[in-house]
Amino acid sequence: RAANDLDPFWMPFTANRAFKAQPRLFASAKDMHYFTPDGRAVMDGTAGLWCVNAGHGRKPIVEAIQRQAEILDYAPTFQLGHPLAFELASRLGMLLPGDLNHVFFAGSGSEAVDSALKIALAYQRARGFENRTRLIGRQKGYHGVGFGGISVGGLENNRLGFLTLPGVDHLPHTLNLDEAAFTRGQPTWGLHLADELEVLIEAHGAETIAAVIVEPLSGSAGVIVPPLGYLERLREITAQHGILLIFDEVITGFGRLGALTAAEALGVTPDLMTCAKGLTNGAVPMGAVGVSAAVYQAVVEGAAGPGIEFFHGYTYSGHPLAAAAGLATLDVYESEGLFQRATELTPYWQDAVHGLKGLPHVIDVRDLGLVAGIELEPRPGAPGARATEVFHRAFDDGILVRVTADVIALSPPLIISRAQIDELIDRLSTIIKQTS
Ligand code: PMP
Repeated sequence: RAANDLDPFWMPFTANRAFKAQPRLFASAKDMHYFTPDGRAVMDGTAGLWCVNAGHGRKPIVEAIQRQAEILDYAPTFQLGHPLAFELASRLGMLLPGDLNHVFFAGSGSEAVDSALKIALAYQRARGFENRTRLIGRQKGYHGVGFGGISVGGLENNRLGFLTLPGVDHLPHTLNLDEAAFTRGQPTWGLHLADELEVLIEAHGAETIAAVIVEPLSGSAGVIVPPLGYLERLREITAQHGILLIFDEVITGFGRLGALTAAEALGVTPDLMTCAKGLTNGAVPMGAVGVSAAVYQAVVEGAAGPGIEFFHGYTYSGHPLAAAAGLATLDVYESEGLFQRATELTPYWQDAVHGLKGLPHVIDVRDLGLVAGIELEPRPGAPGARATEVFHRAFDDGILVRVTADVIALSPPLIISRAQIDELIDRLSTIIKQTS
């Protein structure tokens, strides 16, 4: 089958092919803007890939990385360690919600997800629940590209052609355009979708299920906002049945929803949490999994069976440059009050993005925190083509947006000003009007 015959989520890759014919390159970046090799400014409406939350080229972060490179370029964190990794782990442990006070480091979001799934399975085994091996994700969920991530992920094209983990189910996703069309912020419908978890528990038996993993807000599937009460309901059901709840906060972490995590912003605490991206402001790759002391102890002491040490970690877990970047990034978030700033900007942002409703082709506008998804009506027979056209026109006009299928996703750095929000949305509005 040709790529275009597949699910529209294949489109980003098709778009990549188009870039090859007409490459769009970045040469440098500062604050809210990228600059092309010929010096053109492109306003970053997507914080890179949802990661540059404090804006580009931030001096304290750059200097921390430079300093660290001169002091200690590399040290393993297997049996050994270095102070910055411990410092970052303990700082994160103090910041993460609930009792998530221990941290496993990884090199990316995908690694963090695969680590979290292994930790969840190991924890169940360590507690003597060897049969709790099933995992539950969500349709349209995105959890990176590792084998664990594509197994629990719900974007079919990520899995196509690969043998994935057995014993995985997917909850229905939480988007119904007809109903979502008149919602704003968190929809009030769709709570019944969480009850589908009870159906799976009934079908397989709770004693076979290790964990449920969800993105609190689905980003890559086109900004799918959880209905009010949905995450609470998942929390309730999982707790009731001894199933671990994992939040994949790779996108939502570090201020996107106006707090350090979506868990904090939405008031629901999971048992494990993954993060990456904004952890280092995108400057050095890093991922992490937050867990409770109880999970940590059980996993480290008895994951594979009594007396058998849990073997898990990466060469670059807690890399010195990433740890330095992470600490400096947290400093910037804190000293500039960027999460609070995101909260304060949210109503202005909502008004601006909802101004796009009613434009030709726009069939839905969704938002939460400083995120928005603008869904366009697909061109007949060419899913994703209209949004891809918007992407190209936008780039040429000096704004960077992200396209997933027929959704234009926006997630600007949290330093964006009101005037820049106006500029971003005004330009996008003009471009959408010009698109056939
Ligand atoms: N989980 C989520 C929710 C993500 O959005 C992403 C990346 N967009 C990942 C995992 C994978 O992260 P990475 O690309 O750093 O491996």
